[in-house]
Amino acid sequence: MDGCGRHIDHLRLSLTERCNLACQYCSAGHDATSCRIDADFAIALVRWLSSRHAVRHVRLTGGEPLLHPEVTEIVGALSSLGPLDEITLTTNGQALTARASRLRQAGLTRINISLDTLRPDRFARLTRGGELARTLRGIEAAIAAELNPVRLNVVVQRGVNDDELGDLASWGLERGCTVRFLEVMPIGPMIETIRSQLVPAAEVLGRLSESFALTPVSAPPGQPATDFAAVGLRGGPSGRIGVIASSTRPFCSRCRRLRITARGEILSCLFDTGGSSLAAAWDGQELDEDAADRMLQAAVMAKPHLGHRSQRKQMISIGG
Ligand code: SAM
Repeated sequence: MDGCGRHIDHLRLSLTERCNLACQYCSAGHDATSCRIDADFAIALVRWLSSRHAVRHVRLTGGEPLLHPEVTEIVGALSSLGPLDEITLTTNGQALTARASRLRQAGLTRINISLDTLRPDRFARLTRGGELARTLRGIEAAIAAELNPVRLNVVVQRGVNDDELGDLASWGLERGCTVRFLEVMPIGPMIETIRSQLVPAAEVLGRLSESFALTPVSAPPGQPATDFAAVGLRGGPSGRIGVIASSTRPFCSRCRRLRITARGEILSCLFDTGGSSLAAAWDGQELDEDAADRMLQAAVMAKPHLGHRSQRKQMISIGG
């Protein structure tokens, strides 16, 4: 429990800072640095947080978590720890096709896949070199592996992809995916351009209502998304659509998250500028849980009531 009475039980664990894409809103460009977390350290951290501190939800992220060579082994080890309610992963899907089924077998509960456009040329430009067809094949593989419900995350940007909202929703719903539209956040390269590129979630919903009848559905505690049952008009597909209004309606008062970066830094908020490193409590084989407890206590008590909404670090190094 933090100083504001929030129950912290969700961990975002970054496996690597490396990414095979360099999305314009996320990073400044392809970066040669490639720090990744030691697999045994990652497993020890989750064992400690789940056994001593009742963390129940773990999301593996990055960078691109599928670039960690031991990602499947890490999922398998976390799954055999016992106390976790879910182990999820966020990916750009480029390297997913060959891995989806093994991840499912290892114990991955669900998957979120980033998909900002359905146009190959736009995808290549936005991601600085990505291949749309690979991500689409990755999504199909996740569906076939029953990583349900597969969630598609769309970061909406004015003048970039806001003309595709209905198409993206229909494409995902036709395949049984949940489609979530995210407001862009003032992080990394977006600090300068957010004013012109932010499309408020209310506007996104207004546009989607032209193609779908939307009825709000209740969300579990700690979930930042507002979800809707969507019924396609004029014979369109139906399913679940959501928005995450991180910029226009910050969900700090409901935030239950703690982050650990690929360098072992502990961050209590997406907008933290620095944190102590749990690597200091790891000797290569064992985690000094008492030392780690002290760092955790300090981080959780410093978790701000409201994040200060500006972050110079890139999402790729925080763990989105
Ligand atoms: N490589 C994986 C991926 O692409 O999903 C995981 C890491 S990525 C940093 C995690 C999420 O952060 C993605 O859904 C991405 O779209 C989102 N993201 C990155 N920068 C963002 C920003 N400035 N505003 C909103 N979302 C952002």
